[in-house]
Amino acid sequence: MGKRKHTDAAYQRCINPDCAAEFDCGQTLFKCPECGELLDALYDWDKVEVPGKMSDFGKRWATRDNRLDFSGVWRFRDMLNFCADSHKVTIGEGQTILQQNCAVAEQIGMRPDRLYLQYEGLNPSGSFKDNGMAAAFSHAMMVGAKSCACASTGNTSASVALYAHSCGLRCTVFIGSGRIAFGKLSQAMDYGAQTIQIQGDFDDCMRQVQDVCTKLGLYLLNSLNPFRLEGQKTIMYRIIEQLGWEVPDWIIVPGGNLGNSSAFGKAFYELKELGLIERIPRMAIINATGADTLNDLVNNKKLAWNDGKVDQKVIDEYYADLTARNFSPHTCASAIEISRPVNLKKCLRTIDICDGIVRAVTDEEICDAKAIVGKYGLGCEPASAATIAGLRHLITEGVVGTDERVACVLTGHPLKDPNVTVNYHKDKQGKFSNAPIEAPNDLDEIIKLIK
Ligand SMILES: *Cc1c(COP(=O)(O)O)cnc(C)c1O
Ligand SMILES: [Zn+2]
Repeated sequence: MGKRKHTDAAYQRCINPDCAAEFDCGQTLFKCPECGELLDALYDWDKVEVPGKMSDFGKRWATRDNRLDFSGVWRFRDMLNFCADSHKVTIGEGQTILQQNCAVAEQIGMRPDRLYLQYEGLNPSGSFKDNGMAAAFSHAMMVGAKSCACASTGNTSASVALYAHSCGLRCTVFIGSGRIAFGKLSQAMDYGAQTIQIQGDFDDCMRQVQDVCTKLGLYLLNSLNPFRLEGQKTIMYRIIEQLGWEVPDWIIVPGGNLGNSSAFGKAFYELKELGLIERIPRMAIINATGADTLNDLVNNKKLAWNDGKVDQKVIDEYYADLTARNFSPHTCASAIEISRPVNLKKCLRTIDICDGIVRAVTDEEICDAKAIVGKYGLGCEPASAATIAGLRHLITEGVVGTDERVACVLTGHPLKDPNVTVNYHKDKQGKFSNAPIEAPNDLDEIIKLIK
């Protein structure tokens, strides 16, 4: 059934080393049909033409009237060439910047010239998810999908809804009840998605959407989709590009469903394998304390990739305990409010590849960090600010050295979640709160207030 033909340069392979079943890219699978594990999109690099050095990708800036060269995903298409150019979908994603930010660095006790913020809020739907959707929808076009679906904490639904109508696909998004940030919900509705609000949390939605997609043959756009992760690799290429084709010492990323961290590790592994970079940066993955499955499993239960032989019993017991306690994750960073991350094993692989570490930060730390990014940077949503809060920990611990170059991935736009922002500034009295001042309708009184 759709087994890989060895003439195909791109193919899918099960991540379980005891199975390692291979399939062609013309199939829509999302999990290994033989053992149920996650799949990778892989390439036979001998059959793919890859630039001799990374800076060759930069030459495409000169031909950006070509829609693929304009895209910050497809500019790097040689690294994710699983479909024909005619199927490649783009709405101008990946025009994002790496901002060197001295003021934020100083606020968290870092050498000022060492901190870089990769601001993914500049994407068409306002989050990094668009990088993944450009690739996944290209695969959807390649296999002739007509309808698609996703479960979402918010940004996935916004991105899916936007790409779906751009490609002419019908689209259903599943969200948990009462958890979604208003900016994101408004996008899903405005972009015309059928929005189904399930009485449950994200993890419940994730389980339902997989069964719905299987039963109805809908194309699934969660990060279980290996082609989505291929698009997200390009965030790392762009960081390297903006550092003058140099690799930073650290990448810091929030951890939710763990798609980004999984994609980033794969990106660096491949670049190193191809000799396009000389070393792989370290990675820190930051959970919220109210949704810290990865942190708990890695730091307390010592769960590790172990050459692909991950101790499934540890995971099963952990999840059984969550179920027994009727546990539901809680954090103001709704984008990472996930307790059963679907890409857990791929993330463990990234930790292995990147000598990675995991930390958890409180909501209070997230909100303070978000206010710092707002005041001194381009702003971001709560989940993104977890990276800055986590970095502060790592500097205090001495894990990140003062001379090391750090790139934090700011995953989403500040307008995604205005409620958290207004609440922090008006009601909470946080360290950086900047509440509006009430004034009488009187000129003299008003003038007295101006600082
Ligand atoms: C989806 C999302 C995350 C979580 O990313 P994963 O790849 O699921 O770990 C973090 N921040 C924002 C803004 C997101 O939209
Ligand atoms: Zn398998």
